[in-house]
Amino acid sequence: MGNIYGMILRSEIDASSLAAPAPLVDPFGRAISYIRVSVTDRCDFRCVYCMSEDMHFLPKQDLLSLEELDRLCSAFVAKGTRKIRITGGEPLVRRGIMTLFHSLARHLESGALEEVTVTTNGSQLARHAKELADCGVKRINVSLDTLDPDKFRAITRWGDLAKVMDGLDAAQAAGLSIKINAVALKGFNEVEAPEMIRWAHSRGMDITFIEVMPLGEIDGARVDQYLPLTQLRAQLLDQFTLEDSTYQTGGPARYVTVKETGGRLGFITPLTHNFCEGCNRVRVTCTGTLYMCLGQEDAADLRAPLRASESNELLFKAMEDAIARKPKGHDFVIDRTTRNPAVGRHMSVTGG
Ligand code: SAM
Ligand code: SF4
Repeated sequence: MGNIYGMILRSEIDASSLAAPAPLVDPFGRAISYIRVSVTDRCDFRCVYCMSEDMHFLPKQDLLSLEELDRLCSAFVAKGTRKIRITGGEPLVRRGIMTLFHSLARHLESGALEEVTVTTNGSQLARHAKELADCGVKRINVSLDTLDPDKFRAITRWGDLAKVMDGLDAAQAAGLSIKINAVALKGFNEVEAPEMIRWAHSRGMDITFIEVMPLGEIDGARVDQYLPLTQLRAQLLDQFTLEDSTYQTGGPARYVTVKETGGRLGFITPLTHNFCEGCNRVRVTCTGTLYMCLGQEDAADLRAPLRASESNELLFKAMEDAIARKPKGHDFVIDRTTRNPAVGRHMSVTGG
């Protein structure tokens, strides 16, 4: 893992060589040990619940460079971050992105970081899976809402299911553990859910269903997409025995074991059961904006302090000030009378 890429990207200041600053703890006593970094707002799909068809993307010059992303991640590691998820947009479409994984590998090697993970739509996985594993990535999340190629094309507007399947094969061949993430969508995949669970478990993959969240303007009404997971779970009980599990990944999913398959099934329920009390994470966008909560507008600019000085003092100060404002939680509502999204930005901006 220690290699030329890491040496090219790594910032002058290694997390391990910094005088250990105090870890980040928010006003509610929650230690921030997990960051999700959106490395691009662009994507090769246009999932109907995530984006509108004619999305406007950021000009490339507004993005943090890969070196700056590495420095930002390293500053968080120095402040107690133990887990980094690289996401987007579609992270694997960002040019040169593998150099970031190579450079972050040094924090895995030193033990400063427990885990680097990725959330991907799988379209580019076939060509990157082996290299991700070489960089110390052990687990990845692949988003997949249906196993039907026509429905897949419809929900992603452009996607090719066969490519994602090739990506899954390559990831498993490279030894990566996979969790399938499926957004539960009313009238779209609720009937298919048992088949998806059997399929994922037959391949040794976990699967998690997610409630759709009111993030950003999309074409159509959220209420027509929203399927409460309380309802899906009740439907699944017709076919499966769901046994409570204590399994945890540090994320928001609550898991059960499906007795009939022996596999793990997760539920992420931001609407029906808010999980904010245990929140340990914040999100950074590709322009260096820190969002302390997925469902609130308040944000802090980390790009200016990052660029203002080669030392990390200003950056640390901006991070601390921001975490001191981390809100208690989100206030998502999806119903016929609530027209506006909870926040204006799309999930592809903040990072899933
Ligand atoms: N492109 C990558 C992917 O699809 O996995 C990473 C970014 S994507 C924004 C991360 C996750 O957010 C995906 O699992 C996607 O299904 C989910 N997502 C996007 N918009 C959502 C929404 N409005 N509500 C709930 N989940 C959403
Ligand atoms: Fe792209 Fe992921 Fe959003 Fe789909 S969910 S449009 S794959 S960023």
